[in-house]
Amino acid sequence: MMLDAVQPLIAPLLYVNDPAKRLFWMHILGSVVLAAWYFRAALPGLGPGALARRLLCKKYWWNASTRIDYALLFLNTFLKLVVFIPMLGGQLGVALITARVLHLHVLDAPQISAGPIFVSLSFTMVAFVFDDAARFLTHLAMHRNPFLWRIHRLHHSATTLTPFTVFRTHPIESFINYLRSIVTLGLISGVFIWGFGAQLQVWDILGVNALGFLLTLAGSNLRHSHIPLGFGSFERYIISPAQHQLHHSIDHGHGNLGAYLALWDRWNKTFIWGSSAHNLSFGLNDYEEKASPNRVLPVVDFTR
Ligand SMILES: [Zn+2]
Ligand SMILES: [Zn+2]
Repeated sequence: MMLDAVQPLIAPLLYVNDPAKRLFWMHILGSVVLAAWYFRAALPGLGPGALARRLLCKKYWWNASTRIDYALLFLNTFLKLVVFIPMLGGQLGVALITARVLHLHVLDAPQISAGPIFVSLSFTMVAFVFDDAARFLTHLAMHRNPFLWRIHRLHHSATTLTPFTVFRTHPIESFINYLRSIVTLGLISGVFIWGFGAQLQVWDILGVNALGFLLTLAGSNLRHSHIPLGFGSFERYIISPAQHQLHHSIDHGHGNLGAYLALWDRWNKTFIWGSSAHNLSFGLNDYEEKASPNRVLPVVDFTR
């Protein structure tokens, strides 16, 4: 009983064992390996001791900027468990409503017969792309709408980027993100349940969308870090850590808004190659610091 009451307060400590979280031990291990590989390539003479000191540098992990990340990690997790989930429910509710509305008001469920592997692979792909597009549009709105920018700039006020900075969001942004995820995934699930019946299965790794899991393992934690790992010409498809760091830099704050796929930024002309990420400073510039709710941020065309 006591443990139940305390659980929402300490839930982030259990993320290390949750494959859906970026702090899952396998993702942390993957990031450490990538970071070590990057340092060894960039600084060839670096011995194991010096490498460990770099990775564990106290000033990097514990400073005025990172302390806000940790506090928001606990606050947002608490709010999600105690307020957002009880208030909004999960994606299953949205899925069942969607399937029912389609069945009653659009067309009787067609119950298309297709092999389970085809259904599960197409569901995994469609859910991943649709969710990624929704993330992009939400993020774009955060940068273009003056009210939403005032909320989102808390994420951009980080002057030290660590893998914990992903949790540095205003509680209202956290709420919007939760709402977005249950609506997008619920809608897609609902359409598939309506079309193919209820035996829907996502292609997963340890219960997580396989595409998301693999991309997280491939360096998502380094997006919020000072390691400008780029993907070379592959960046035209997948956003690299260096590209998200450009998004956080004082000079390029409104480019590379995508989560995984680069497609949306290329369409929206907000795509910047990661190779321009050198000696970046992170945080807000003077204009962004002072932007009032009525001032819209300048829109830059990055293709020029
Ligand atoms: Zn942003
Ligand atoms: Zn970020």
